[in-house]
Amino acid sequence: MVGAGPAGIYAADILDKSDADVSIDLFERMPAPFGLIRYGVAPDHPRIKGIVTALEKVLSKPNIRLLGNIDYGTDIKLDELREFYDAVIFSTGASADRALDIPGIDLDGSYGAADFVSWYDGHPDVPRTWPLTASSVAVLGVGNVALDVARILAKTADELLTTDIPDNVHQGLKASPVTDVHVFGRRGPAQAKFTPLELRELDHSPNVEVIVYPEDIEFDDGSIAALRASKQVDMVVKTLQEWAIREPGTRQRRLHLHFTTGTSRRCTARSATCPRTCRSCRSTTRPAWCRTRRAACSTWTRTSCRACT
Ligand SMILES: Cc1cc2nc3c(=O)[nH]c(=O)nc-3n(C[C@H](O)[C@H](O)[C@H](O)COP(=O)(O)OP(=O)(O)OC[C@H]3O[C@@H](n4cnc5c(N)ncnc54)[C@H](O)[C@@H]3O)c2cc1C
Repeated sequence: MVGAGPAGIYAADILDKSDADVSIDLFERMPAPFGLIRYGVAPDHPRIKGIVTALEKVLSKPNIRLLGNIDYGTDIKLDELREFYDAVIFSTGASADRALDIPGIDLDGSYGAADFVSWYDGHPDVPRTWPLTASSVAVLGVGNVALDVARILAKTADELLTTDIPDNVHQGLKASPVTDVHVFGRRGPAQAKFTPLELRELDHSPNVEVIVYPEDIEFDDGSIAALRASKQVDMVVKTLQEWAIREPGTRQRRLHLHFTTGTSRRCTARSATCPRTCRSCRSTTRPAWCRTRRAACSTWTRTSCRACT
């Protein structure tokens, strides 16, 4: 087995429980096993990290061996494995970010989540420090990894003391001047990939106000179909709707969830992009920052096109 993350270890377990008389060696690049459970899942998710107990049980079986610090491709090649084993399974995971092809992605201050989560999970291959100097941070994407990153940035460092975060990470987060974290999804709430439990958990910090903007809660036909087809989507949307209509709170940090940030409607009458106006600052080109509200511009109305109404 090449790679001792959950996939490799569960595969070893299945083989062990089969009728075949097997002995299994797991070759792992890192000194320690468990892959992204160790170096990806956020430290304040002990329930998920807890699966290591089940994985450890598999590794303690006498016919299963873990060989750490062995990098397939450098220390060992397929020909050598074939010489000594009847079968080889690759379970090396997907540890790098997928490239995001948008203008400005290479500018200073833009990072992939894989590097940031590696830092806060103490991955030995990444530097011990992270440049946390911004007071306002944008997180692109609306899945559970985006929630992990946003939550770790928004929570106060001391809230994480009950977890096993490394000391350098605690010190780094403690010095962070962040007050606002903005999570952006290009489509609507029904297309968000959060799972309901992870979404609701965002709101548990006594120091973080989760803000959803009522004008972002909109549903086209595709969204309504998605809501009807999936209980999970329905639960996510209900949570977002609840948050969109509640009174603003006073917690010291804010985590803003923005939707439909990538959509521009075509005006059928003018055959051009439909002009829209920010209700607060009256700008007709969407500014990133609304000067009137001194917040990310989001009070955006689509009802102002005189041509197509
Ligand atoms: C930020 C983040 C948060 C997540 N949160 C959750 C969550 O809350 N709940 C949940 O269920 N899932 C979560 N996941 C997903 C979960 O971590 C993955 O689905 C799971 O770890 C995948 O298992 P895997 O074994 O396929 O890959 P990995 O966990 O990546 O394991 C692959 C292993 O192969 C090793 N390897 C790679 N290349 C080589 C090589 N050349 N030679 C030897 N070894 C090698 C790696 O070091 C690693 O140990 C999260 C993932 C991320 C990134």
